[in-house]
Amino acid sequence: MLRTRHKSVVFMGIQSTKKKVLTKRGVIWLGQTCNLRCHFCYFLDRINSSSHPEHAFMSLDKAKKICSTLVDFYHNNSIDIQGGEPTIYPGIYELITHCRKIGLLPTLITNALVLADIDRCKKILDAGIRDLLVSVQGLGETYDKIVGVPGAYEKQAKALENFQQLGIPIRFNCVLCKMALPQLSDIAKVAIAKNARVVNFIAFNPFCDQASGKRSSENVPRYNEVTPYLNDAMDILAQAGVECNVRYFPFCMVAERHRKSLYNFQQLSYDIHEWDFASWSWTGLTPQRTKDGDVSQPVTLQEATVSPIFLPSTLQHSVGLGRRIANALPIIKKPIRAVYRGMLNWYQKKKRGDSLDSLYRQNARMRAKEHCKYAYGECCATCDVQSICDGFHGDYAELFGAQEATPIKIGKKIDDPQYYIKEQAKIVEEEDHGWAC
Ligand code: SF4
Ligand code: SF4
Repeated sequence: MLRTRHKSVVFMGIQSTKKKVLTKRGVIWLGQTCNLRCHFCYFLDRINSSSHPEHAFMSLDKAKKICSTLVDFYHNNSIDIQGGEPTIYPGIYELITHCRKIGLLPTLITNALVLADIDRCKKILDAGIRDLLVSVQGLGETYDKIVGVPGAYEKQAKALENFQQLGIPIRFNCVLCKMALPQLSDIAKVAIAKNARVVNFIAFNPFCDQASGKRSSENVPRYNEVTPYLNDAMDILAQAGVECNVRYFPFCMVAERHRKSLYNFQQLSYDIHEWDFASWSWTGLTPQRTKDGDVSQPVTLQEATVSPIFLPSTLQHSVGLGRRIANALPIIKKPIRAVYRGMLNWYQKKKRGDSLDSLYRQNARMRAKEHCKYAYGECCATCDVQSICDGFHGDYAELFGAQEATPIKIGKKIDDPQYYIKEQAKIVEEEDHGWAC
């Protein structure tokens, strides 16, 4: 083991560090076409409906244009390529090579079924893939049930063998749905056996298509039902030195020793394998997710962050008036937009200082509060980490209430989003050593 600057450690050839920096990773959705039907998929309706505007894959030219904006406007240096399922995208090899060429290190977020064919693995390797984030949602028949396709696990298992044989770096994603819970420890063991560098456990949340009545107490586990399985799986990974992250889960619902691995919205930006809020705000917009039509103008993080409801009433009035004038007279849309941007920049600097970290934090809070309607239980008011915790997802609180919340007592109020995660060592790939370690 070799110690380096910034509390970094090299273990079995992989460098990890406790230093935390803002991520530079972008994301692209090529189209919601997939060979599986996971019951918790955020895009299930779009995948099931071939007439949905986001269903069909976009052209390679449009995908390349989005990638160029990620580099030129957002200064991203890596990218998560998603479909639906990106391995069935016709131009996938060319897109991987293109991303490499323009300075975006490419990861595929994949169910990996297609990669049971070792020749396909060789092709993505030759094209320039950096690593794969494999969605391991369960094992054996349970996996097949979760993803809705018999025989799927067998193919995924073969693909995992291929990656090991060819030395393709992998990380795991696993959604914390009810069926998967009894297998979390075994999934952790498979991750270790297959040399996964990271395992992410992700709360089953009602994002996108899951917001429309598919979730119930039948498929969503209560947090305290998740807790013992999660603690055990995290212990196994910790013992083996494999990085583990848990997304969108209240701090009080895991053992204290694991809180350093919990990523609520305020912590997400400090995981360099997560998405940059700035570019994510743009690629998440409809024009960047559809086959038809051109891409839209990039948005700045300020624009994506300052919701008019956070502005003082005089500025709210000006924004509303500006929008009405711009809509009535499209020719002056550009200058109005420039004034709006200037106003937001000014407001940001005046109210919250110029720090990028504070802007990302504000965006995180807006995502939790406005987009996801996160709520706190009554007792959260007495919790010392409330200011850095999202609380309970609004939809979860409606299903189960928020009585499970157990206030954390530290002896002082914590306001540093990195309070827990600064103790977590995260792996950093060689290409990122210069800025992230
Ligand atoms: S593999 Fe991914 S995109 Fe496909 S259905 Fe499952 S969650 Fe959705
Ligand atoms: S704020 Fe509430 S949900 Fe979050 S850790 Fe504290 S008690 Fe738990």
